[in-house]
Amino acid sequence: MDMNKKIPFLDLRITDERERKKLLKLIEKIFYHGRIVLGPEVEAIEKRIADYCGRKYGIGINSGTNALYLCLRSFGIGHGDEVITTSLSWIATANVIALTGATPVFADIQDNLNIDPDSVKKLITSRTRAILPVHYTGTMCCMPKLIQIAKENDLILIEDAAQAFGATLNDIKAGAFSDAACFSMNPMKVLAACGEAGIVVTDRSDIYKKLISLRYNGTMNKEKCIEPSINGRLDTLQAAILLHRINGIETIINKRRQIASLYNNLLQGIVTTPMENKDGRSVYYTYTIQANNRDELKKYLENNGVETKIQHPILMPDQMPYKSNPRDDLTNARRLIKRILCIPANEKLTLNDIKYIASIIKKFYHG
Ligand SMILES: *Cc1c(COP(=O)(O)O)cnc(C)c1O
Repeated sequence: MDMNKKIPFLDLRITDERERKKLLKLIEKIFYHGRIVLGPEVEAIEKRIADYCGRKYGIGINSGTNALYLCLRSFGIGHGDEVITTSLSWIATANVIALTGATPVFADIQDNLNIDPDSVKKLITSRTRAILPVHYTGTMCCMPKLIQIAKENDLILIEDAAQAFGATLNDIKAGAFSDAACFSMNPMKVLAACGEAGIVVTDRSDIYKKLISLRYNGTMNKEKCIEPSINGRLDTLQAAILLHRINGIETIINKRRQIASLYNNLLQGIVTTPMENKDGRSVYYTYTIQANNRDELKKYLENNGVETKIQHPILMPDQMPYKSNPRDDLTNARRLIKRILCIPANEKLTLNDIKYIASIIKKFYHG
């Protein structure tokens, strides 16, 4: 045991001198031009992200949660509607559905932790309006099947792509498979701001126009209010930081994939390693293993200086507000939630860190 070893799950400090100076310069530029609210950087990042995903429009929103909420609202989803989503995600995914007045309905998951299309099919009723899949951990859902289900049942398909910026399936980017898709760019995400940030991407001009109004208190031409909404505008400072960071996004993704590939080799046969799609690219927002005796393993890692996280310890349908919501039987979700563990996989890790973490896991199982 190495008593001095301390590997944090994430380290959000900006320690690189050049990077810090660059970011400060970008912020200073905004202080000079003074367009602090919806400045030119917001429009520029909207265009950059839309282009990156292969979509026509991007609408910058002040968080991933609000992007999802306003996106659902822009399709008129609300009271009396049901929206089918996964049972394993950050609780924001269920909350945004409930906040529109609609009912979240919870599907089971597949072994790769993503929504199971067969479970979705079982849950469709006459009230179902939309499907909201999550590309969990940065691995794409089975989109061809979900697209077909949406088509056959005349349902809106919205991607919660918060964890999957840059992920692909058949060379198509996350965010390009649906009527509209939402990203979070909070500091923990793959493309990260230095504060809260989100975006909706879509090809539909009506949805674009609606979102421009919804993100500013439901107003038109600044003052005329047509429906109640929130202030969801994206901050110009965050937009400037994102514009800089998106230039390096492929480097970031490659680094994450390198780390994942090292772990895959070191942990093979010891725990279940993440399942990448055959025709897809995962971006490893988290590197989530499936492990026997998960809780003991977590403690053992902690005692050896390695911080890990369980994302998430409670299924959304088991959270207090959703205990009586409709759901499938969730056999797989209930089995997997006891086994999942996210180990450190951020870009600051060294090769030695990775080898050390893998060796501790190996020691836990094999002595
Ligand atoms: C991060 C996240 C969100 C919410 O994004 P915020 O920017 O933190 O509001 C929503 N859904 C999923 C799957 C997420 O991981």
